[in-house]
Amino acid sequence: MNKEKSGIKRRTFIKMLGAAGVGSVASALNRPVVTDAAVMQVDTRSFGSTGVQVPILSLGTMFDTGANQLLLRQAVKWGVTYWDTAQYYNRWGSELGIGKYLAKFPEDRKKIFLVTKSSRRDPGGLTDELNDSLDNLKTDYVDLFFAHGVSNARNELTTEIKAWAEKMKSKGKIRLFGFSTHSNMERCLSHAATLGWIDGIMTTYNYKVMTTDKMKRAIDLCHKAGIGLTAMKTQASSSWGSTGTQTPEGMALTQRFIDKGLTKEQASLLAVWSDERIAAICSQMNTMTILKANTQAAVDQERLTASDQRYFEVEAQATAANYCAGCTATCQGALSEAVPVGRIMRCLMYSRSYSDHYRAQVEFRDIPGSVRDRLTAFDYSKAEYSCPQNMPIGRLMAEAVAELS
Ligand code: SF4
Repeated sequence: MNKEKSGIKRRTFIKMLGAAGVGSVASALNRPVVTDAAVMQVDTRSFGSTGVQVPILSLGTMFDTGANQLLLRQAVKWGVTYWDTAQYYNRWGSELGIGKYLAKFPEDRKKIFLVTKSSRRDPGGLTDELNDSLDNLKTDYVDLFFAHGVSNARNELTTEIKAWAEKMKSKGKIRLFGFSTHSNMERCLSHAATLGWIDGIMTTYNYKVMTTDKMKRAIDLCHKAGIGLTAMKTQASSSWGSTGTQTPEGMALTQRFIDKGLTKEQASLLAVWSDERIAAICSQMNTMTILKANTQAAVDQERLTASDQRYFEVEAQATAANYCAGCTATCQGALSEAVPVGRIMRCLMYSRSYSDHYRAQVEFRDIPGSVRDRLTAFDYSKAEYSCPQNMPIGRLMAEAVAELS
């Protein structure tokens, strides 16, 4: 394996930092509001070849939707009517809160493209979880049902699951079927494109992964196969927390977009929307402020220039060792024992980048104790050697034990 990593050229960076300007602090808030918030409406795109149009911004609901009914109401008003949930989001609270909303506003059900998920891979388990979700959501169908967190599509997307999806469609309980993936995404996408029965996929997709040849090819295969694509993890948050924005390259990137009247978060969304093959971005929007900022970015659709894109590329190169790219087959395959490295990296990301320590702890404690207890005893040298991002895996596993046990 080629261990040489492409790094930023110092001269190029200094030139860019100068262009960004350290003196100019024009606030993103001073940007002229192009669209009146009272009337703004999010655009739609075709969801693959399914014949369905979806809003380009999807409401990720991994929060207490029951206590945020006004946010749901506002999302509908702005056309953010693609809602993404799962049973375990907020420990059933997300689905139950959406159910509470739909019971109060049943006329909104047909406006909403509703997605839920199950981690089960057996038909009986999938049926049980789908029925539970329908009960929670106070609806008799979901628009799209995902097998959640697929990391090995070849093994997990079996003919049994295909038959189950067809049966549920014929019963009218689901309209479309697909999966979500944040591990080995490129392989999962490429395999799905060959199957002919996957309607939609939600995948990690952001400025740090979208420029690799493997990912470009995988997205292209799915697009050609007519699969509707939703991007998630579009902020490219790291397992280290906010260190990405503290590098000179991260600061230059942030300043670049502040000067244009955009936050870095909005610009990261625009970078993904610039790929027309992506139907929608799923973003966790648990406050009205985030919902409004993301909706404005979706409505304004400021075009990023080639120079803007270059800032993203430079930051991505400079912070590669901050970012776990989800290629778990690489590091986990290099270990002699089954260690869920990718899952633990995500726990650290939730705690450090999303400030959601509770969720990180819950997910970390879901890992069998027999594995957790031995995390600091494993030898990670082969995994670290194989990691294309040069992640210090052993150190991060030890930090996860210290912070999340
Ligand atoms: S730790 Fe490295 S090899 Fe493992 S999933 Fe993350 S980036 Fe890939």
